[in-house]
Parts: sequence; structure tokens; C-alpha cells
Amino acid sequence: TSFDFSGKRVVVTGAGRGIGRDLVIALVAAKAQVVAVSRTQAHLDSLAAQLGATAKASLQTVAVDLGDWDATRAALANLGPVDGLVNNAGVACLENFLEMTKEGLNTTLDVNLSGVLNVSQLVAQGMVKRGKGGSIVNVSSQASMAALASHTAYAASKAGVDMASRVMALELGKHNIRVNCVNPTVVLTDMSMHWLDPVKGGPMMSKIPLGRFAEVKEVVDAILFLLSDNAAMINAVTLPVDGGFLST
Ligand code: NDP
Repeated sequence: TSFDFSGKRVVVTGAGRGIGRDLVIALVAAKAQVVAVSRTQAHLDSLAAQLGATAKASLQTVAVDLGDWDATRAALANLGPVDGLVNNAGVACLENFLEMTKEGLNTTLDVNLSGVLNVSQLVAQGMVKRGKGGSIVNVSSQASMAALASHTAYAASKAGVDMASRVMALELGKHNIRVNCVNPTVVLTDMSMHWLDPVKGGPMMSKIPLGRFAEVKEVVDAILFLLSDNAAMINAVTLPVDGGFLST
């Protein structure tokens, strides 16, 4: 990677698998100190093992259910100095609107929206107190801006993240804290394997001008850019990483 995060401490949520896990590995390679937050301790242990002994010195792990507001506050109470935050943890409870359940809706909003605001507020309070500014990147989705069947709760949560990020950016700008979103198209992780079904995935892929889904690395690179000082004047944007899907 060409990014240099030496001297920076970055919190990454949803670090156990998928995009978040590769992001942590890229950040450690770019010399960041990383606090990796995820629900399942075993996934964090396997991440630490993958990073190996030397890199492990750059990694701190916290296992918590980010859908639980109070447990999250308690788990992150003594976070220490933070320069960057990536709210990447997310769930996709896909249900047709007419069959949508209270549980599916609540879990989605608790993790994808309230969880993001909770961690962002905690981290931003620390950043303001410290007075050194900071960068927050929220992993949203193309589903915040384009209607996709069975995505009611997910889309509402991500659209909420997009707009909340703009308000956070508005209020936090005077503290030199930037808040941006990345909005990926389909990335083939555990969350999105259902898109491999050609009946579902084919029409989606055909609407992407580049004719393919996104690679995890392509999302990670966009996050690293917005997180870094290279993006010092970029604030309150929603950056599609979608091969052009949202433009059509
Ligand atoms: P994965 O399902 O591969 O990984 C999700 C990660 O989030 C896991 O590490 C999981 O923890 C963690 N997580 C989920 N719920 C909680 C919770 N309640 N508390 C703490 N951690 C939690 O998903 P992706 O890597 O694909 O997704 C990452 C982000 O990208 C999400 O916000 C998603 O909405 C977004 N996105 C994904 C797309 C895709 O096609 N994959 C497209 C557009 C956006 P654990 O390992 O413990 O289960």
C-alpha cells in the first residue's frame, strides 16, 4: 500500500471478517495502530494470528455486540487517543417488505444505524477533547441510494448513515473532524453470497457499467483514502465504489 498511517491510531468495527478484516491488515501494513472491534472473539483471535507476532503489537481487539448501545459504551469506555474511525460493521437481514419482521428491522437499525452513531459519538467526543482532529469513514452502500428488492430495512439504515454523516460533518468540522461515507456495490463476502445466484446477480451485474462486482481491496482502498490526510479537504461525501451503478 502507498498509504502511511504511522503515528495514527484507528478504530475499525466489523473487523473479524470481510471488508473490515482486510482493512485492518492494510492499516497495520501502513503502520497504523489498530483497535479491531467485532462481535465474535474467535474471528478477532484468528485475525491476530494471521497478522503474526510483530504486527500483533499494532493490534488491540474488542469483542462486543455493536447492536447493544450500553454494552458498546462499556466495552469502548477506555479507548484512548483515536485519529481515525471506520464504522464498517453491518448486517443484512433481507426480507420482502410485506413479510418484514420487527426483529429484522430492529436488528438492522440497531447495528447499522444506531451502532454507527453510538461509536461515532463516543470517538468524536474523545477527538474533540484531544484537539487533534480526526477522520471518520462510514461504510454505507449503494442500497442507500438505489432501490433494491428485499432491502427495506437495510436501505433505510444505510440512507440514515449517509444523512447522519452529513450532519456530523457539519457539526464536527470546526474541530477538524471529517466524516465521509463509502457506498460500495456488491462485494463478494459472507454477507453477499446470495448475489452469486445468476437469476439475482446477473441483472445487477448488467446494470454496472464496468460489468463486474467490486473487490474487497477496491473498497478498502477507498476507505484508506478518505481516512488519510490525502483527503484532508474531502468532507461529507458519499463516495460510490460501484463501477458506475448509481449513475445509470
Ligand atoms: P461480513 O458479513 O463479511 O462481515 C461483517 C462484519 O461485521 C463481521 O466481522 C461481523 O462480526 C461484524 N458485525 C456484524 N454485526 C455485528 C455486531 N452486532 N456487533 C459487532 N460486529 C458485528 O460483511 P462485509 O464485510 O461484506 O460488510 C462490511 C460492511 O460493508 C457492512 O456495513 C455492509 O453493510 C457493507 N457493504 C457490504 C456490501 C457487500 O456486498 N458485501 C455492499 C455494500 C456495503 P462477526 O465476525 O463477529 O460476525
